[in-house]
Amino acid sequence: MKHQRLPVEVDPFRLVEQGRMLQGKLAVKDFPRLQDLLFHGENTADEISTEINLEASNAETAGLAEHDEAQVLVKLEFGRNESGLAVVNGVIKCELNMSCQRCLNAVKTPFESALSVAFVHSDTQAETLQEGYDTWLVEDDRLFLRDFIEDEILLALPAMIAHDLDDRKQREQCKPPQFQGELLNDEKSAKQDREKGKGKEQDAQQKENPFDVLKDLKLDN
Ligand SMILES: [Zn+2]
Repeated sequence: MKHQRLPVEVDPFRLVEQGRMLQGKLAVKDFPRLQDLLFHGENTADEISTEINLEASNAETAGLAEHDEAQVLVKLEFGRNESGLAVVNGVIKCELNMSCQRCLNAVKTPFESALSVAFVHSDTQAETLQEGYDTWLVEDDRLFLRDFIEDEILLALPAMIAHDLDDRKQREQCKPPQFQGELLNDEKSAKQDREKGKGKEQDAQQKENPFDVLKDLKLDN
């Protein structure tokens, strides 16, 4: 299905009277408040895309770098409900490249949310609305689609955005950078020591200081 770029501004009440359906796309980069939640780091992204390159298809890897190209697909149906309210029902769909709240690396977050909103002319009308709709206050018969859609996305995003630890591949990606470094060094030195026949000594040392890594993490933060 074709996705045209959506208009910046519409008259929602006119669309309601016409029973119109709008379907189109908006660029993720046009949502300033959403930008703060997206992944922006360069170095880690490089590391991750190298990792993914080994395991996944190029198509999947390409998504990570396509910040500016990422699109939000939107479908909105305007009309009146049974009691005559001016409403819009619709769906918002996108895949966001967000920052994992656990490791701060990039995590792809597929997003799909249904919306059901009543348009009102005043705060009073919003307060007295009894039908369980979310409301949107329309001033001067103008609706800025970008603000409207961004609000809906921010409301519907999960409170905790992080790698799925039940998924093996995502779990492997979900390590704080300094922790990853420690692990690599430990593995390396353990290997070298084993080769020199000092494996047992090394093991004993590690048992004595199992929380060294955690201590470093706390100081860093
Ligand atoms: Zn993570």
